[in-house]
Amino acid sequence: MNVIEGILQKDGLARQDIILLLQANADERNKLYAKAAEVKEKYVGRKVYFRGLIEMSNICSKNCFYCGIRAGNFNTHRYNLSDDEVVEAARYAWDNKYASLAIQTGEVSNRAFTERISNLLNRIHSETNGELGITLSMGEQTEETYKKWFECGASRYLLRIESTNRDLYAKLHPNNKAHDFDKRVECLNALKRVGYQVGTGVMIGLPFQTIENLADDLLWIQKMDIDMVGMGPYIEHPDTPLYKFKDMLLPMEERFNLALKMIAILRILMKDINIAAPTALQAIDKLGREKGIKVGANVVMPNITPGLYRNDYKLYDNKPCVDDAVDDCKNCLEARIQLTGDTIGYGEQGNSKHYANRMSKG
Ligand code: SAH
Ligand code: SF4
Repeated sequence: MNVIEGILQKDGLARQDIILLLQANADERNKLYAKAAEVKEKYVGRKVYFRGLIEMSNICSKNCFYCGIRAGNFNTHRYNLSDDEVVEAARYAWDNKYASLAIQTGEVSNRAFTERISNLLNRIHSETNGELGITLSMGEQTEETYKKWFECGASRYLLRIESTNRDLYAKLHPNNKAHDFDKRVECLNALKRVGYQVGTGVMIGLPFQTIENLADDLLWIQKMDIDMVGMGPYIEHPDTPLYKFKDMLLPMEERFNLALKMIAILRILMKDINIAAPTALQAIDKLGREKGIKVGANVVMPNITPGLYRNDYKLYDNKPCVDDAVDDCKNCLEARIQLTGDTIGYGEQGNSKHYANRMSKG
């Protein structure tokens, strides 16, 4: 038995084990993927849940160095969906039995915005019979705002930590209060206190990032007892400050393989959480999301943003599916998932089993 096989037979994974798994060669990584698929089947089943993704607005007050819709990028055409457009997209999700929505925006925290979201949540619930599970991804807000949105019926919140290494975090963000690592951690704790299913994640293949950093990211996510994770490859965007480091990046294919390994290892570490196969995987490999599902992911986010706006929500370069109509996305993903051998949990919200287990433990 070689070293990797030995590690995969163990009950828990130590930091050094994770580092070795992240370095696994082509043969060895297939063993890792097989093990992750086995764990997925046993703990969460071979089912994939849809979250209809609404990219509601690309207006953002922040200036993260990696992101194409940062406030300082004046080459982006800014848009903001109307309430009716958001509700119509939500109805599409409901009519098509997606059972869950994810609404994502740039970070805005003024009162008009937070109240708008509360009203929208109420409207969506009343027009879809309260049957949709709603995830929000709107950055750092006060605990009071998180609470208000929770009371209006948002049940999950996604806030990626981006990198759990403070030095790396500081290289990715301006050095000011709006981009503070501790504040981000505090937001995740606040989300937990309020009662959300809490999601986080990191970018993989960032400039300056090491394999050790990635191993620590996984252990941090485990220690935080997170319910859902979305993590994917970093993809450079030419209109961002981080672009100047593009020559030090791993080749795309290696970033992709590293992202798959991260998903597989996380599935082994945290057996009952929800893990998304992020769209960024597909920006690199046409079969990216299917491959994510095969190695442990159980959530995908079909884009249901009205086509007119999709091209403007460009966090990174080469974003896939920007020209597809909403129905095309559905049919395409359906066919793709069937090819993996998993079934789609139509009509099921697919809440995090980890959350249920966490709550029952009190
Ligand atoms: N404004 C919110 C939600 C939108 S950004 C927030 O920041 O939380 C959603 C995610 O897109 C970010 O968390 C980040 O991980 C990812 N992202 C941004 N730029 C990216 C890039 N260049 N490559 C890959 N992912 C990126
Ligand atoms: Fe804004 Fe989020 Fe992009 Fe940062 S990652 S610039 S908060 S949209």
